[in-house]
Amino acid sequence: MKYRELVEPLEQDMLASLQRLVKYNSRKGEPEENAPFGKVPAACLDEALQMASEMGFSTHNLDHYCGWAEMGEGEEIIGIAAHLDIVPAGDGWDTDPFTVVRKGDRLYGRGVSDDKGAAVASLYAMKLVREMGVPMKRRVRLLLGTDEECGSGCMEYYRTHGEPVTMGFTPDGNFPGIYGEKGHCSMVLKSKNTRILSMEGGFVTNAVCDHCVTKIPAEVSKEALEKALAATPLKGFTVTEEDGAFVIDAQGVAAHASTPLLGVNAASYTMKALKDAGFEDDFVNFYLDRIGTGCDGDGIGLKISDDYGPLTLNNGIVRKGEEGFECTIDIRYPVTFNAAQIRAFAEPFTEDERGKVDILAVSEPLFYPRDSVLVESLLAAWREVTGDTELEPMVIGGGTYAQHVPGIIAFGCEMPDGDNHIHDRNESLLVEEWKMQVCVYVEAILKLLEA
Ligand SMILES: [Zn+2]
Repeated sequence: MKYRELVEPLEQDMLASLQRLVKYNSRKGEPEENAPFGKVPAACLDEALQMASEMGFSTHNLDHYCGWAEMGEGEEIIGIAAHLDIVPAGDGWDTDPFTVVRKGDRLYGRGVSDDKGAAVASLYAMKLVREMGVPMKRRVRLLLGTDEECGSGCMEYYRTHGEPVTMGFTPDGNFPGIYGEKGHCSMVLKSKNTRILSMEGGFVTNAVCDHCVTKIPAEVSKEALEKALAATPLKGFTVTEEDGAFVIDAQGVAAHASTPLLGVNAASYTMKALKDAGFEDDFVNFYLDRIGTGCDGDGIGLKISDDYGPLTLNNGIVRKGEEGFECTIDIRYPVTFNAAQIRAFAEPFTEDERGKVDILAVSEPLFYPRDSVLVESLLAAWREVTGDTELEPMVIGGGTYAQHVPGIIAFGCEMPDGDNHIHDRNESLLVEEWKMQVCVYVEAILKLLEA
């Protein structure tokens, strides 16, 4: 691995830096003065900027939405956009999610992979490039955001208040680079009539709902309900009877919304079991018709795909809303379609007497030519450092900062077949992979400085 001798001596410092960030439970909070996404993400940003400043970079805090560490000179900016916010840790960890714990070759902790580890790797890559003393005709700016997981309001703020980035990457996807990201569409399904007494599941829109608690009147037999639940891929469930009602506690499997089939949706399979057990209900039927368990958008007129992959659909949260139950829908649609088409395809399926679906927002996909300077430079950096010649840049379900910061694509930090449990309990990172990130980013920065 090229640059190995440079990165090896940095391991302890990198670990200490990572711990300084992981200790913050920087999930999105309530907006406050000087903390648009909550107190803790803002405090984590302060810490990261303090750390960068101690490492000798010039820093700037952009109204607590995001900040940056910078080096180099010139008008143009090579932007590296990492995020400091996290998705909630959730239950079931083997270690404290807010302490970096090393077990053998792996580090554990919320954010060690997504994306605090990547922010640290990027910062140390900048340090190494600076110490090489190469001429920098461009500035290299590490952008540190605080709202990636909940809509990237931080980078939207940068886009309207900061200097445009000439080119760069976000270390928040996969190696060896992502030159296309599917378009994103968010919807909310709302019930009109239902006999379901309560239903609550999931905690973020961009992850598969992995736990759901539902209460229905005890109108069907408990055996039938348990039999129907047992026939689903749910990881576990309980049915308890109280005051003439059944409480169903269903445990699914979390996964990122862009790969919903890697998870098991606790809400969807609860709905399916209710129907299979003979619980006839408008909300259940509308949910199954429009969302269902297939994750392919078939129920809402969106079963489409292209050379780069199919559309995916995910329900992340179910909760009681003002008018009835509300279910969030996160859709990633193929890069060769556009927002107007998505609206047109879905429109005929959005309402009937049982329920309705509100289309909240549809963003356009991202697509850079495979042979563009940016994609080629990053791929070359990857290949030179790792020696790999087989992996190809890819098109994914997306939703990274690249869709909010013009000029950048996602590049690392996960391996295409990596299994770091991002957004799941026991998130981890291989120390060797982390060092490789630093080395690849060193070469990437050098290449972008020359490009
Ligand atoms: Zn991320």
